[in-house]
Amino acid sequence: EGCRGLPRAADMAASGAESLCGQALLGAVPGAPRCPHGPALLFVKTSQGREEGRRFYACSACRDRKDCNFFQWEDEKVSETRLAAREEYNRNHQPSFTHRQNVERYKNFVQLPLSKRRFCQECQQLLLPAEWEKHSDHQFLCDISTSQLKSPSQLLCPLENKKTNAQYLFTDRSCQFLLDLIIDLGFRRVLSVGTPRLHEMIQSNASQEEDFRVRSLLLDIDFRYSQFYTEDEFCHYNMFNHYFFGGEAAHETCRKFLHQDNGERVIIVTDPPFGGLVEALASSFKKLMAMWKDTEEEGPNNQEMPMFWIFPYFFESRILEFFPSFSMMDYQVDYDNHALYKHGKTGRRQSPVRIFTNLTPRMIALPAEEGYRFCTICQRYVSSGNQHCEICNSCTSKDGRRWKHCVLCKKCVKPSWFHCNVCNCCALQTHTCEKADAGCFVCGKAGHKRSACPSLS
Ligand code: SAH
Ligand code: ZN
Ligand code: ZN
Ligand code: ZN
Ligand code: ZN
Repeated sequence: EGCRGLPRAADMAASGAESLCGQALLGAVPGAPRCPHGPALLFVKTSQGREEGRRFYACSACRDRKDCNFFQWEDEKVSETRLAAREEYNRNHQPSFTHRQNVERYKNFVQLPLSKRRFCQECQQLLLPAEWEKHSDHQFLCDISTSQLKSPSQLLCPLENKKTNAQYLFTDRSCQFLLDLIIDLGFRRVLSVGTPRLHEMIQSNASQEEDFRVRSLLLDIDFRYSQFYTEDEFCHYNMFNHYFFGGEAAHETCRKFLHQDNGERVIIVTDPPFGGLVEALASSFKKLMAMWKDTEEEGPNNQEMPMFWIFPYFFESRILEFFPSFSMMDYQVDYDNHALYKHGKTGRRQSPVRIFTNLTPRMIALPAEEGYRFCTICQRYVSSGNQHCEICNSCTSKDGRRWKHCVLCKKCVKPSWFHCNVCNCCALQTHTCEKADAGCFVCGKAGHKRSACPSLS
């Protein structure tokens, strides 16, 4: 597994050090060079948690070098010829049709009789009859119905094998729950950032009664969606560097959407790829929130834009670092095409994915029929296995199982953990003790363990 791949994510989040992987994110900087995915991010090479050596720029969006191999040292002099070549490369690596062209194509497509509506599975593209010839040796689907066109996330094949996109689509259960919650909370507009299935469910519910009608704007890096949505419904967007591929016009679409109705009753819902780079995501979300704030006519507004950030529970401390006003809900979000992240109730493994929000926790009512209940002391809904600990005075379980209190650690720990006197903390019984004299795993110095390493704070 690659270093920013999912299996390592839990490890990295738990240790709080993306730098354990040999590189640390420094962030977006003005004047950064560009790859086809917008401005690159600045990183630094690290060794055992220490910043060492040269800083470099790499692609913000692609965790796999195979998807985008952009690389440049921070202090590297790039010749005019290379700059020109790079610009041409970036231009050539944009999609073959523009969004505008795709909207026109769609208009033509829906005029066709069912028998002439084809979708090329190889190119992931709606085909007009004049193009059939060119795709004659490709696999295609026929008779594309209106309802198929309204569920593009079912028609398109999820880009799940690519670490870059990591498209994990909500189950109907989770998606319906989110939408009902959004409506019950009184929201009427959703900025769907990397949530195409939620967007699609909102669009198809749009014919509902006026009072409950919700609108959505999808921001996503997957340009295939531009075949199905107008420029008012979809913006090609990179959430790791807050880059709108459609330039100022797309930026303005987003701004206008946020500012409608005086900026009221709008929420951001996002479900980013889990491969780390929390800091880059947080910085983009803050920019979207700032865009909303700017819109308020009645002077400065001290509120933070409401948000649901869907992410695994082991990233809790990382998210709270950037958004101290957020709290984590117990609701388990699950996915259709992710074997590991399914709902627990049917005996399958429990999903580690949760909702983080800046809304008051007691407002987020979780379904009683799935066992969630309200803890009057914590003033929030918790999962059935989550017991209120008298000593911690909180419902402490993170993973849905019942946790137990350790008096020596002075906190609740996973049920499978035991207190280890060598490590002086709770761990799995099968763990290998971190001997303090062997030096810290992160910085190499003696006298403390990885969990207490000063370089992580
Ligand atoms: N559960 C959601 C999908 C989440 S998968 C749903 O069912 O609606 C992650 C989504 O983020 C995908 O749609 C993917 O295309 C998008 N994505 C991945 N990298 C991105 C990036 N750099 N910028 C914007 N969107 C991105
Ligand atoms: Zn690595
Ligand atoms: Zn409680
Ligand atoms: Zn406790
Ligand atoms: Zn303990």
